[in-house]
Amino acid sequence: MKKYFVSVFLVISIFLFISCSEKNNTLSFTAMDTFMTIRSSGKNCVNANKAAQARVEKIENLISVTKESSEIYRLNHKLTESFELSDETFYLMKYALDGAYKSNGAFNPALYPVTKEWGFTTKQYQVPDENRINEILKLTDYTKIQLQETEHKINCSYGMMFDFGAIGKGYAGDQIIEVLKENGIQSAILDLGGNIQLLGKKTDGSEWKIGLKNPFGGDVPVALSVSDCAVITSGGYERYFTGNDGKQYIHIFDGRTGKPVENNVVSATIVTSKGIYGDYLSTTTFILGKDGAVELWKKSGDFDFIMMFDDYSICYTKGLEGKISIFGAFSKIQVIE
Ligand code: ADP
Ligand code: MG
Repeated sequence: MKKYFVSVFLVISIFLFISCSEKNNTLSFTAMDTFMTIRSSGKNCVNANKAAQARVEKIENLISVTKESSEIYRLNHKLTESFELSDETFYLMKYALDGAYKSNGAFNPALYPVTKEWGFTTKQYQVPDENRINEILKLTDYTKIQLQETEHKINCSYGMMFDFGAIGKGYAGDQIIEVLKENGIQSAILDLGGNIQLLGKKTDGSEWKIGLKNPFGGDVPVALSVSDCAVITSGGYERYFTGNDGKQYIHIFDGRTGKPVENNVVSATIVTSKGIYGDYLSTTTFILGKDGAVELWKKSGDFDFIMMFDDYSICYTKGLEGKISIFGAFSKIQVIE
């Protein structure tokens, strides 16, 4: 009899162990030039995460600027004026061009000839001279691009080139969340190279605690208690090079000048519902600086932001009150109302 109970106990324990171990799954992989981690909870989490990874790889195969088979690569090397896009790439192109108009060209998906000239794709960095920059800037005029809605065609002149680097990860995050939901997942956290996206709350019903990176290194300066949203950061502290002139040139460009942004912003974080919007805004507010960011915030009313500056001051919008904690180094704090 005792033996019988021991085996029943063992069977139940093994069953519980298997079902518990299936409840959370963390999957990490590299895609879109970024280390990505998906942690989801739910019965189907292992399959859900695998399906999400496959979805990201599909997006990468459409929009990579370096993979020769990608749609964007083929668009960037086309010899004709007109080029037919898939539904997905057409959507991204429309979204990004809309962003260019809204920011008067500060954000511009057609900036690729410029960022390429500075060496950001090949890592063969150089500071082009003023004449060369102005010459190449002529190729980035987004107002000359025409989209044909019915045929999903793009018309633009030879030499124009595109890059969705500033919205791609946010879009991928939105798609991951869709795939997870389709697979019955209600709670997940994604870290796509510092872009954090949250599906629902933690499994115990509490909010997620998200720490923002310290642009100067060291302890986390800001923590947020949030759920079901995207927390997307653009910073100049991770990808940059030092020119022969000793100056640091970052990977975020001002589309109006064709030069890396030089202002007092060290990081811009957006809290909003959609990843693609947060990604667009984090890059754009970084370029525009505090005043431009405040103007956008007042006009749109559908996001919050946190901005850190080179003098260790910080500002955040009032929607974050009660959700944000600020520690240590950043002592000059302003709440934007
Ligand atoms: P990260 O990709 O490091 O998270 P961002 O979302 O701010 O940072 O995107 C930066 C990338 O966007 C650059 O690496 C480049 O590919 C592209 N980019 C740089 N400047 C602009 C700009 N003004 N408009 C649109 N895309 C840009
Ligand atoms: Mg961005």
